[in-house]
Amino acid sequence: MGKVTGFLEYERLEEGYESVDKRVKNYKEFVIGLNAEQAKIQGARCMDCGTPFCNSGCPVNNIIPDFNDLVYRNDWRNAIEVLHSTNNFPEFTGRICPAPCEAACTLNVNDDPVGIKSIEHAIIDRAWSEGWVVPQLPKARSGKKVAVVGSGPAGLAAAQQLARAGHDVTVFEKNGRLGGLLRYGIPDFKMEKSHIDRRVAQMKAEGVSFRTNVLVGHLSEGSKVTNDAKEIVSPDQLRREFDAVVLAGGAEASRDLPVPGRDLDGVHFAMEFLPQQNKVNAGDKLKGQLRADGKHVIVIGGGDTGSDCVGTSNRHGAASVTQFELLPQPPEQEDKPLTWPYWPIKLRSSSSHEEGCTREFAIATKEFLGEKGKVTGLKTVRVEWVNGKMVEVPGSEQTLKADLVLLAMGFVSPVASILEAFGVDKDARGNVRASTDATGGYKTSADKVFAAGDMRRGQSLVVWAIREGRQAARAVDEYLTGRSDLPR
Ligand SMILES: Cc1cc2nc3c(=O)[nH]c(=O)nc-3n(C[C@H](O)[C@H](O)[C@H](O)COP(=O)(O)OP(=O)(O)OC[C@H]3O[C@@H](n4cnc5c(N)ncnc54)[C@H](O)[C@@H]3O)c2cc1C
Ligand code: SF4
Repeated sequence: MGKVTGFLEYERLEEGYESVDKRVKNYKEFVIGLNAEQAKIQGARCMDCGTPFCNSGCPVNNIIPDFNDLVYRNDWRNAIEVLHSTNNFPEFTGRICPAPCEAACTLNVNDDPVGIKSIEHAIIDRAWSEGWVVPQLPKARSGKKVAVVGSGPAGLAAAQQLARAGHDVTVFEKNGRLGGLLRYGIPDFKMEKSHIDRRVAQMKAEGVSFRTNVLVGHLSEGSKVTNDAKEIVSPDQLRREFDAVVLAGGAEASRDLPVPGRDLDGVHFAMEFLPQQNKVNAGDKLKGQLRADGKHVIVIGGGDTGSDCVGTSNRHGAASVTQFELLPQPPEQEDKPLTWPYWPIKLRSSSSHEEGCTREFAIATKEFLGEKGKVTGLKTVRVEWVNGKMVEVPGSEQTLKADLVLLAMGFVSPVASILEAFGVDKDARGNVRASTDATGGYKTSADKVFAAGDMRRGQSLVVWAIREGRQAARAVDEYLTGRSDLPR
């Protein structure tokens, strides 16, 4: 372990943030990572407690005590080896993972947890700047061809693992750029897209081929899913040309709010709003970008996507930003003895909230109000939760002004027409049915077809998508060759 008494001597140090005034003027990342000396001290706080709950709290099972120790000992070269042994893309998770590992840290029982995510961030940024992240070429080629549908974190992780196992991998992506929600959902201020480009370059050097602007299967007319496809490939063609197919198309069907006035101009899904700004940041010229400048914006939905709409609206120069959440306000502090080592429910304020936002809890929208076809406001009601059921509070109706309403209530499932085109069985929630068993896991009901990430598990996190991509790659490798050395 690092320093035996480190956890008694040193306090947790958070990463720095650029001031709100400066950061809302642009879309750049504003987190100031730990320097080497700070990371070393934070690494010294790890108790090497013997049963590292952090390791099972982390969905990719990062070997956290080991890299904490290596950073404390100034052995950054081996720290990145340990980190990469479980996580293909620590530069993504080191920036945008909510860090369930820290909730599970043993020091979190009665103190502040080790700053695991900030140490991960420091290790991978150092590794890139030192030139330690290089292509890893397979020792032998299998002669087998694998198609991966979707280039989000699940598809990229699966593709990288399969290429390193010697297979010939092609990633199909309907959008113009690679990365899935990392590229088009998550704003640049949380993660700049050069991180994706750098990984894609590494993967190309490892032999992965990418085909962008290609839709596999079918999207219904009028679908509001981001789609820049210029070419369509049928699932049958993929099955004919490839030895295995991995479906990693995400869960793109947004949850709607079908109340009166839904079709008014100015009421949009978050995933109509956020991708446009990401495209503009990448240099695209869009006709009629959806913008929040000078508008009263109401974001419906209290999660990550809603928070990203808040941050983007403030950067546009919105007149006001209000965020609604149906559930009551959670407590500021969790009850640690009750919740540790699990992910606790508590009030979480994001950096976007700090930039200016009124948060309303226990509120439901009854109707969108409008004039001449444009939204002008919302009719709301306060709600209470009685025995798990939502009940409206009589007499609490209110009308609020709104020029732009963004629906950020999550995603219901993958797009059904794509799964139907592949003919795969769905589970009760409309996701692709496939288990995660060590043997036969990630395999769908269709011949040769596997599934991973949000398309299999439903809307989730980047770190879960990476885990699923890695595990699905092992399942495909076993299917193609009868055995696999890829880690699970
Ligand atoms: C706005 C927003 C913010 C988020 N913030 C965070 C965060 O801070 N931290 C976090 O951990 N998670 C966050 N998430 C969740 C996270 O982004 C997802 O869980 C993760 O990206 C899922 O990865 P995936 O690879 O399964 O799918 P996706 O990232 O959705 O990628 C799927 C890809 O497949 C492509 N595709 C789909 N169908 C086809 C087809 N038929 N043919 C060709 N291509 C196809 C899509 O275009 C897309 O590029 C956020 C999500 C959103 C929407
Ligand atoms: S990937 Fe997420 S959960 Fe795992 S160690 Fe990093 S921050 Fe923690």
